[in-house]
Amino acid sequence: MSRIYNFSAGPAALPEEVLQQAQAELTDWQGSGMSVMEMSHRGKEFLSIAEAAEADVRELMGVPNDYKVLFLQGGASSQFAAVPMNLLSRSGKADYFRTGSWSKKAIAEAKRYGDISVTVDREVEGRFCSVPGPNDFDVSTDAAYVHYTPNETIEGVEFPYVPAIGAVPLVADMSSTILSRPIDVTRFGLIYAGAQKNIGPAGLTLVIVRADLMGNPLDGTPTMFDYAAQAAAGSMYNTPPTYAWYLAGLVFQWLRRKGGLEGMAEINRRKAEALYAAIDDSSFYANPVDIDCRSWMNVPFTLADSALDGEFLKQAGDAGLKTLKGHRSVGGMRASIYNAMPEEGVTTLIDFMREFERARA
Ligand SMILES: *Cc1c(COP(=O)(O)O)cnc(C)c1O
Repeated sequence: MSRIYNFSAGPAALPEEVLQQAQAELTDWQGSGMSVMEMSHRGKEFLSIAEAAEADVRELMGVPNDYKVLFLQGGASSQFAAVPMNLLSRSGKADYFRTGSWSKKAIAEAKRYGDISVTVDREVEGRFCSVPGPNDFDVSTDAAYVHYTPNETIEGVEFPYVPAIGAVPLVADMSSTILSRPIDVTRFGLIYAGAQKNIGPAGLTLVIVRADLMGNPLDGTPTMFDYAAQAAAGSMYNTPPTYAWYLAGLVFQWLRRKGGLEGMAEINRRKAEALYAAIDDSSFYANPVDIDCRSWMNVPFTLADSALDGEFLKQAGDAGLKTLKGHRSVGGMRASIYNAMPEEGVTTLIDFMREFERARA
């Protein structure tokens, strides 16, 4: 069997080693005689898997003890509602940064629950290609929280810094950048991420929340969405997505073997710099994003002549480089190069791009 280089934005490629380990223990997990899929979530086998996954992600990200790590369901899109439901009650107001397609969706959902101010809006002529400078925004002092999207997956726009907003809790949708580099968790009140980009398979949603922010949800918040209830139940208020949780745990172990997030950050920086350099060095390919906020994870690019898009995708596919079509709202191409994309995948793509251009010069 030969594996392709899969540039999908999500669900995205998983490390091959992780898939092989899962395959090896698929029908009999460590002598238990059961697949992880068949285990009671309250049995000692699965509890040991769940606890190890939490311990490993805490270690990788340096999560302090006064933060809860929740393994939930419903994707980042459910968190667009769960965040205001759990955090808005203090003042009923929150500030949102509007930097791309995912923050737009987060804003639309939050507006159903309270008084939402869009304090940063980077849309210019229908496009998002930049972030504000570190001093170019104000925070309402009575905001219950400030929400932003550190990496806009569709536009390929990534904050190169963590916004400093004083005492107001900072909430981040890290779906497409979590675990790609070290971060200081203490700068955040809450971090959430759908798993299917950099954590594991779809179906699992990670929430890291400072414990003092829980426990005061809006009236009518479903128990499934109540962080305090989920924390009290060890993320098992109902049956959790056990197999996705297990696979995430294997990914965390793989990351630790790869040198943790410092090690990943070095590799990710090299991959992104090489691909952007190849784009910038040519007059055939282009990326519209401001240089200081180009994403390490999602690299959109266009061809000089969009009539060649179909041919590019076809030939790339024939060369084993798959899922490079850009999001329908942006067009062109997008190479998602999450942790699981090996460096050889990126160099193979760059070589292919150069050859495709050369053949047309
Ligand atoms: C993929 C993505 C989402 C949506 O995630 P779901 O798990 O499908 O709800 C939200 N925000 C960002 C930044 C994403 O990349």
